[in-house]
Amino acid sequence: MSSADLSGRVVAVTGASSGIGEATALQCARAGAAVALAARRVDRIQELAERILADGGRAIAIATDVGEEDQAGEFVRRAHHELGRLDVLVNNAGVMLLGPIADAPTEEWRRMIHVNVFGILYCTHAALPLMREQGSGHIVNVSSVAGRVARMGSGVYNLTKFGVGAFSESLRQEAVSLGIRVTLIEPGAVATELAAHNRPEVLAQMAKRFEGVTPLTSEDIATAILYAIGQPPNVSVNELLIRPSGQAG
Ligand code: NDP
Repeated sequence: MSSADLSGRVVAVTGASSGIGEATALQCARAGAAVALAARRVDRIQELAERILADGGRAIAIATDVGEEDQAGEFVRRAHHELGRLDVLVNNAGVMLLGPIADAPTEEWRRMIHVNVFGILYCTHAALPLMREQGSGHIVNVSSVAGRVARMGSGVYNLTKFGVGAFSESLRQEAVSLGIRVTLIEPGAVATELAAHNRPEVLAQMAKRFEGVTPLTSEDIATAILYAIGQPPNVSVNELLIRPSGQAG
């Protein structure tokens, strides 16, 4: 658990209905931030918002498909409007559909590019003018070890996550003069629902690859995100690569 103090801050988290996004939203709320939660499964984010409110925190849940420009923009602008400011945007929503490139169902490629690429672009595009106006802000983009190391069987996921890394570095340079910080988070294997959406033959291969590896928890990654956003204004954590101790590649 992080000891960051986020009192008075507003954090918007995409993909908050499960896994890393849910854990990050909870840790931010416990650290004193008001949180805005985005995902398509609105029942899950509403339930999370209610848990945070019951704990004495402040949270709003907004049904959002981040790959749709109007919905992404609406989420970011409502978070700012309803919670009064926007200090941090955590671009966490993501999809990972693996398998060989040959014979792949191309709909899987479109889904990954829709969420992993356009989701980050649209939310960031909506947040930048608000943060520029404020004179401060922090954008956290969740990439992956797959954004640093390409492997056979994850070509299009690699494409999207390498893209997130390149975009984040370009954004970081542009945002320096606006007082906006940018952090790239690159987790290794984390125990979440992410892999479950894969075809059964892909799941079997993944199980073989990670045999004997104790995965990270969503809370481990949330703690890393809170480390980055809890730094004083003169410190910009640019990149965090976090693998389970047993993960070699
Ligand atoms: P989960 O599957 O638990 O969470 C994914 C989240 O993304 C869900 O909240 C889901 O919500 C949301 N999401 C998916 N599609 C959309 C969409 N179109 N619009 C809005 N939200 C969407 O997986 P993780 O927590 O593991 O994944 C979070 C991030 O971490 C991803 O970017 C992933 O690539 C990255 N990551 C994960 C690793 C792992 O091993 N688990 C390793 C490295 C990186 P809903 O379905 O309700 O819309």
